[in-house]
Amino acid sequence: MSDMAVEVLVIGGGAVGLAITRRLAMEGHDVLLIDSNESFGMETSSRNSEVIHAGMYYPQGSLKAQLCVKGARMMYDFCAAHGVETRNYGKLIVATSPDQLERLQAIKSSGDANGTPGLRIVEGDELRAMEPKLNAVAALYSPLTGVVDSHNYMLALAGDAEHHGATIAYLSRFIKAEAAGAGYRVEIDSQGEVMTLDCARIINTAGHGARQVASAIDGSNPDAVPPHYMAKRQYFTTSKRPPVSHLIYPMPSGGGLGIHLTLDNGGGARFGPDIQWVDALDYEVNPDDRAKFHASISSYWPELEPDDLTPAWAGVRPKIVADGSVFQDFTIHHADTHGAEGVTCLYGIDSPGLTSSLALGDHVGGHVMDAMKGTR
Ligand SMILES: Cc1cc2nc3c(=O)[nH]c(=O)nc-3n(C[C@H](O)[C@H](O)[C@H](O)COP(=O)(O)OP(=O)(O)OC[C@H]3O[C@@H](n4cnc5c(N)ncnc54)[C@H](O)[C@@H]3O)c2cc1C
Repeated sequence: MSDMAVEVLVIGGGAVGLAITRRLAMEGHDVLLIDSNESFGMETSSRNSEVIHAGMYYPQGSLKAQLCVKGARMMYDFCAAHGVETRNYGKLIVATSPDQLERLQAIKSSGDANGTPGLRIVEGDELRAMEPKLNAVAALYSPLTGVVDSHNYMLALAGDAEHHGATIAYLSRFIKAEAAGAGYRVEIDSQGEVMTLDCARIINTAGHGARQVASAIDGSNPDAVPPHYMAKRQYFTTSKRPPVSHLIYPMPSGGGLGIHLTLDNGGGARFGPDIQWVDALDYEVNPDDRAKFHASISSYWPELEPDDLTPAWAGVRPKIVADGSVFQDFTIHHADTHGAEGVTCLYGIDSPGLTSSLALGDHVGGHVMDAMKGTR
């Protein structure tokens, strides 16, 4: 006898696991979400730029392109309905020399193809009126881009999921799942005690733990589990009032969006992120990297001195390719890929995973519900 039985077990209570849990619960499914930490979103989902991206960077047709554009709209609507603060600042991707104009136009074309709303190249008097102190020859303006209070967003997702009947258990770490009947018998470490649970379906949204979780599921082909790499990213802040009212991004390079200036909900400036590949989760910010940040920021905020920068926080992106310049899409595996019936695994859910979370909830939740109805 197991200690408990549910229809669907979701492993990992970041923004994505919460959104999928909510989606399934809203359709009346019996869902348990477990997370090994003491609350939701204590890993990547609380260690990011909190930007609601508009979807212009990703190749047309990719999951990132589709789910980011859809997810941004869903996030603004969800947050408005649940009293979560968002600020629709708008974003400027800045060309500081004429040789960058072609690349700027290419990003616009990519965004237009993806359905990113309202993209416009701005220059001259119009750009000066938008940002009088910005050092730029032209910029790509994205009016939909903004920021979200990610903690309150996840709090609202968790509350709504529970309101629709889902159960969320923290300090509960997935150990392994063995095939049992038409589903799985799962072992969970619940604050030092091992409890067992029977479930028909498993959704693995464990972020940095996804590879380990997948490898501990009976019937899952280990060769189908992608590799896991970690790209650490640091942020600095300043108490100085920023001279801009939009999110300011340099031209993207090396697979990253560059050290950009984003604004928090109160209008304060945050800078980041840089990139370093690491072997273990490490959330320390190295104060010695101040000089590197200052060198990048001074191209668009020359008055800022290195000592104005304060180390803030770091996050680590889950990657399945150890090369930041290679495009990596959201990777979602079902039984046809790994062989374990009733199991869905999400890998490499890096940016724009926060923006896309509600759309991922629809996408993954929809697939799982179709499978349960036998229509897939
Ligand atoms: C530096 C940085 C900047 C970013 N900026 C943005 C941005 O501005 N906009 C945007 O849209 N996206 C951004 N992202 C991406 C976004 O943060 C992620 O895509 C998103 O948070 C991923 O959510 P998740 O739920 O998949 O993973 P996570 O938040 O990592 O959640 C996974 C959860 O699984 C749990 N877990 C792991 N193993 C187990 C286990 N064995 N048992 C139980 N629980 C387990 C963990 O405790 C964790 O809570 C950024 C990411 C980084 C790192």
